[in-house]
Amino acid sequence: MTRSDLNRRGFLTAAAAVGLGGATVRASGAQVDEAREDAEFQTLRCDAPIVRKVDVLVCGGGPSGCAAALYAARSGARTMLLENLPFLGGVWTAVGVSHLIAGRGHDGLNAEIHHRLPVHQVFQRNIYLIEDMKCLLDDMMAEADVQVQLHTRAVSVAREGRLVHGVFTASKSGFEFIQADVVIDATGDGDIAAAAGCAFEQGRTFDGQTQPVTLFGTIGGYRGQPAKGRELVEILERGGWRPSYPPVTLFPQPGQPGVFQLMATQFYGIDGTNVRDLSRAETLGRYEIRKCVEAFRQHGGEDWKDIYLISTGPAIGVRETRRIQGRYQLTWEDLDRGASFEDGIAEIRSGSNIHPVDDPYESPPEDLPPSPRFRVRPYQIPLRSLIAADVDNLMMAGRCISGDVYALGSYRLTGNVVRTGEAAGLAAAMAIENGIVPAALPGPQVVQRLDQMRAG
Ligand SMILES: Cc1cc2nc3c(=O)[nH]c(=O)nc-3n(C[C@H](O)[C@H](O)[C@H](O)COP(=O)(O)OP(=O)(O)OC[C@H]3O[C@@H](n4cnc5c(N)ncnc54)[C@H](O)[C@@H]3O)c2cc1C
Repeated sequence: MTRSDLNRRGFLTAAAAVGLGGATVRASGAQVDEAREDAEFQTLRCDAPIVRKVDVLVCGGGPSGCAAALYAARSGARTMLLENLPFLGGVWTAVGVSHLIAGRGHDGLNAEIHHRLPVHQVFQRNIYLIEDMKCLLDDMMAEADVQVQLHTRAVSVAREGRLVHGVFTASKSGFEFIQADVVIDATGDGDIAAAAGCAFEQGRTFDGQTQPVTLFGTIGGYRGQPAKGRELVEILERGGWRPSYPPVTLFPQPGQPGVFQLMATQFYGIDGTNVRDLSRAETLGRYEIRKCVEAFRQHGGEDWKDIYLISTGPAIGVRETRRIQGRYQLTWEDLDRGASFEDGIAEIRSGSNIHPVDDPYESPPEDLPPSPRFRVRPYQIPLRSLIAADVDNLMMAGRCISGDVYALGSYRLTGNVVRTGEAAGLAAAMAIENGIVPAALPGPQVVQRLDQMRAG
C-alpha cells in the first residue's frame, strides 16, 4: 500500500490487526500464555478512519514519550502524543513513584522539570506531588503545541516493507488510524515495535524472567516521620504480615500532612505484556496493601493508630518487558568500559538497579548461570539503539530501547529515559525536515543539535 492509496481511500482496514503479537525473538523459556496456546480464533474486520495526519506520532506518554513529543514539536514537527491512561506521566504519575532520580544536575527537560515542579528533598530523593506533575505535563504539551490524545491505546501498525505508515488506535471512539511519517514507540513495553513485527528480547537470557512488578498504596493519618526498612517490617511482622518487598518505604507527600506513598509489594514471575498476569498482580497488590495498612494500624502504636488507605495504584508498576532490537544493542560490556560513541545522545552515570528477579522468600532456582560481574562507568547511549533494526522510520524511547538486560537496569531510570526521549523526538523532527528516515541521519549532527537544545 502506498501513501497515495492511503490518502485516496481515507480508510485503512484493520483486519485482525489488534493484538500485539509479532514476537520474532523471545528469550528461551519465557512464559507461554496458556489462554492463547491452542486458542480458537475470531477474525476482526473493521474500517479505521484516518483521523489525523502528523509528522511525528509518539505512542505512550510516560517520561520518555513526553520528552520525545516536546523535543519533536519544539523542533518544528507536527507532533501527536497518544496515551492509554487519562493523564500523562507514565510511572511518574500512574504508579505512585513520586520522586525523580538521575535528574538533578542534568540539562534539558530534566532540568526544566526540576525548575518548574515543586520538589522536596527526602531520603536524598526529589519528591513531588503527583497532581503537580500531571498538570505540569499538560501545560508543557500545550505550550509546545503537541496534540495530546488520552484514553487511547495504540494497538497495531500499517507496515509496508521497511516502513510504517501509522498506527491503529482503540478508544471510546472505536478503531481509528493516525498516519505519521515517523513513529516513536515510548510505550515502555515496545508494543508498537512488537506489533510491527520487530525482533525483541525479554527478560533473562536463560528463562525470560523479568524484574518484579510493584503496586503502590497512598495512606493518610500517619503521625510519624518518613521511614523505611527494618523498623516498618518489624511492625508488619508483629501483625503477622511479611511484606513481599522487604525494604518497605514511606514517601511523604509534600504539603499533605500525614499522607505517604507506601511501597511494600513486589510480585515475581509476572510478564508485564500478559494481561492475565497483570490482572492477577493488581489484585494481589491490593490485598497486600490492605494487609499492611491493617497491621500498621493495629501494631504500630500511637503514630499509626489513625492511618487509613486513600488509594492503591492507579496502575501496577512494570519495571521490565520487551527490549526492541535496534541498530546497536547496548550491553553490560559497554557499561563496564564506559563506552562512548560518535552518535552518543546521552551520558549515563547511574549504576545498574536490577531488582532481584527471584522471590527472596523462596529458595533460588538451582544451577542459575552466573551473572557478569561489572561496574558501571559513565557511558553513552548511541542514537542507533533508538532506531528499530527492522523498520527504518520507527524509533524507540524509554525502557524499550535496544540493550541487554543488564544495561536496561541502568538506563531505565526516569532521568535517563527522558534523555532517550529528547533524542528520539529531535531525530524524528530532523528526519522530517530533511525528507529522510531517521535511520539515514548522520548521528554526530543529531548530537550537536541535541546539545544545543538541551543547553536551552
Ligand atoms: C515500581 C517502579 C518503581 C520505580 N522507581 C524508580 C525510581 O525510584 N526512580 C527512577 O528514576 N526510576 C524508577 N523506576 C523506573 C522508571 O520509572 C521507568 O523505567 C520509566 O518510567 C520508564 O519510562 P518509559 O517512558 O519508558 O515508560 P513508562 O513510564 O512505563 O510510560 C509508558 C507510558 O505509555 C503508556 N502506554 C503503554 N502502552 C501503551 C499503548 N499501547 N498505547 C498508548 N499508551 C501506552 C503507559 O500508560 C505509560 O503512560 C521505577 C519503575 C517502577 C515500575
